[in-house]
Amino acid sequence: MREISNLNQLLPREASNIAFVPTMGALHAGHAALIERARECSSNVLVSVFINPLQFGDPKDLEKYPRNPEMDAEVAEISGATILWRPEFKEIYPGPVEFISAGPLGELFEGVSRKGHFDGMLTVVNRLFNLIQPQWAIFGEKDFQQLFLVRQMVRQQGKKIEIMPVPIVRDVDGLALSSRNVRLSGEDRVAARVISRALINATAANSLKEMQEQLDNTLLQEPRFTCDYSAIINEDNFTLASEQSTAKRALVAGWVGGVRLIDNMALRNQSR
Ligand code: AMP
Repeated sequence: MREISNLNQLLPREASNIAFVPTMGALHAGHAALIERARECSSNVLVSVFINPLQFGDPKDLEKYPRNPEMDAEVAEISGATILWRPEFKEIYPGPVEFISAGPLGELFEGVSRKGHFDGMLTVVNRLFNLIQPQWAIFGEKDFQQLFLVRQMVRQQGKKIEIMPVPIVRDVDGLALSSRNVRLSGEDRVAARVISRALINATAANSLKEMQEQLDNTLLQEPRFTCDYSAIINEDNFTLASEQSTAKRALVAGWVGGVRLIDNMALRNQSR
């Protein structure tokens, strides 16, 4: 793996057929799975580490975002990255920023608590895509709304980038891996398990109503968890699911000990 400080340092053979993994660093096994998936697509795997200020509404959240540069290089290398790029702000945004709007879906679910988050996210992803021109870009299902919006943007722009989704990587106790998990203290870390437990309980339900009840009742059992939203969506259009929706997915977001956590799970194979 080679680390570059500027994209001009890419050799011609490295600049084509790129499988691109955008991250904000503090890399963990979830990011590693994305990099491994990228490696299956191409022998040119570019990992970026850039904490994009535009997608943080709360300056304190940006300040507290975990940073671990040594670990990032290690995880990227071990997982099969060939290029690690940690751009400066001015390399991504050298002039006036061309903002991308996430549209109405950007205001729903995650967008309710995180105003402007998805506009900021799409703005940086668009910038990165334009600079890198990857053939593939790898995103985790962990951020399911993000994945949907990136796919929508690429489709709308007619870009020829294949968006590759990767399933959520979880800790042994079920908690979805997240860079933010390092901020959970002992008891909060245990309490956070309620999220995956609620999702699993929902997968065992037989009707939409029962799925929602399972989600909500399980989440209520943990007093340390403050729910932001729990919803069941139709994956095809990211609207609330109906009983007839074939591709249902449960989404949960909330706070444990001041740390915001999100997770989701497919509810596909339910008999009605
Ligand atoms: P982040 O560094 O949090 O912006 O995440 C970078 C990419 O890693 C995004 O596409 C995330 O969806 C993905 N990701 C983060 N955590 C996980 C996880 N536990 N499993 C799979 N993908 C993940």
